Amino acid sequence: MHEVIFLKPVFKEMIWGGTRLRDDFCYDIPGERTGECWAVSAHPNGDCLVRGGSFDGKHLSELWKEKRELFGGMGGDVFPLLIKIIDAKADLSIQVHPDDAYAKEHENGALGKTECWYILDCDEDAKIVIGHHAETKEELRQMIEQKRWNDLIRVIPIKKGDFFQIVPGTVHAIKGGTLILETQQNSDITYRLYDYDRLQDGKPRELHIEKSIDVIGCPHKDVGAERTKQQIGGAVKEHLISCAYYSVDRLEVKGEADFAMNEAFCIFSVVGGAGEIDGIKLTKGDHFLLPSGYGSYRLSGDMELITSCTGN
Ligand code: ZN
Repeated sequence: MHEVIFLKPVFKEMIWGGTRLRDDFCYDIPGERTGECWAVSAHPNGDCLVRGGSFDGKHLSELWKEKRELFGGMGGDVFPLLIKIIDAKADLSIQVHPDDAYAKEHENGALGKTECWYILDCDEDAKIVIGHHAETKEELRQMIEQKRWNDLIRVIPIKKGDFFQIVPGTVHAIKGGTLILETQQNSDITYRLYDYDRLQDGKPRELHIEKSIDVIGCPHKDVGAERTKQQIGGAVKEHLISCAYYSVDRLEVKGEADFAMNEAFCIFSVVGGAGEIDGIKLTKGDHFLLPSGYGSYRLSGDMELITSCTGN
């Protein structure tokens, strides 16, 4: 099908959220602590609506259920991806996700979660949590039981434009002063390991220590981003990562460039500037999907996009 399918984001207020989704992206946010923009989601907790076109007003979950041909006839009960923009004004809790096999067994058949982060912007001294310093499970358990969080947690400096792939079993957390675009498997299963001993409504948030210890990989191993660049007409396409669930690229368009789509579908997020796709206007903050069989497309203007594609 040859139609660009635009989606309307859903916003989530979070104790750690801020106002950058309004200040930087001009979204109409629900409050002063808006942490997440679910830009492309078919999750029941935030099911995006189609904006305009043949499917105007339909939920993405309905398209997945009723129009599977738009997604190349891909299998699966649920739409496979979830794209978010996250505004972390304060630190998020330190967490870990299970893989598909563990989630299936321990979480009623749910999916695990692999996710990746593109740093859209961050404070000058911003940091992020990825990994830990325990060599073995025994050491991990000991450090957790003794609450030696500073010895255990690996904190690394970040800068705008950095990219991280977070595989299941990786201890991770976004820290305050960071704006990121996240591509992830459509799953909600999160084990909270440590929440900085913070209180929410007078109580600490629930932790999941035993399940965390079960799934955390020891020792931690980094997954390097690929980051190969290719000039295509007036655009630079930078490949960030390919894994079993998604392939993510960054496009920097300056002028005009023609592309061909071979995947089951591709999601585009305009994260800077403005331009057009096949003559349709695009601006920062737009998110859209090119369905299966869309074929070749032309991007023009002066803009930066992140693409998340799946299903070859
Ligand atoms: Zn996560």
